[in-house]
Amino acid sequence: MDSKVPVLTLWGFVFLAGLFTQGCSNNSSDGAAGSSSSPKIYVTIYSHNEDSWGSVVNAPADYVSYRNNLLERLKLIASHGATLNWQSDLTVLEAMIKYEPDSPKTDTNAKNIVRYMVEDLGFSVDPHGHLVYANYADLAYLIRQLGVEPSGVIGGAGVFDCGSDYLGFLSILDWHPVIELSSDGVIRGERYPASEWRPTILSGPAMGGALVRRFLKRRMVSG
Ligand SMILES: [Zn+2]
Repeated sequence: MDSKVPVLTLWGFVFLAGLFTQGCSNNSSDGAAGSSSSPKIYVTIYSHNEDSWGSVVNAPADYVSYRNNLLERLKLIASHGATLNWQSDLTVLEAMIKYEPDSPKTDTNAKNIVRYMVEDLGFSVDPHGHLVYANYADLAYLIRQLGVEPSGVIGGAGVFDCGSDYLGFLSILDWHPVIELSSDGVIRGERYPASEWRPTILSGPAMGGALVRRFLKRRMVSG
């Protein structure tokens, strides 16, 4: 790997380290001897959708339902002082570009929902994908079409595979070529070749359904 590439690995689980300003303190002096204060917990949440979500967003009434649900979740997270890294694959971004112009914006400060979550709620937006129909620079291009600059987080890259190199049943992939990262630290679009995007954090490494299915299939075949 090229050591000049400014990509940091962050092995994501459910939560991504971040800022949770609400805390859990009962206002006693933090760390004071004999204090009954609870430690603060600093958390931000990340979520993502998939390119298979056509049935969720590709009809006007379905998009309205999805949008209402998303908005409710955004405001719930914000009401607790937490932050969200919202990651999206192709299908939802394309639906937003199609439907947001005509969506009512009384609850989003007259902005599309992506601009609202970034500019008004302080959340971040980034690509999530599995490089089936679009690469990460393509998804960044679509996010920019909605008026927002991605923050630099990649979601969903496959960094594990079935194998035996790690823990006896996994292999760790060389994820630089997996995410199509050039030696200059930039990913270039395929659907939108003019699009360039420089990621900085790898989150939510994909190993869930695909790996489990393949692993189980291998186990079933072999045993
Ligand atoms: Zn995914």
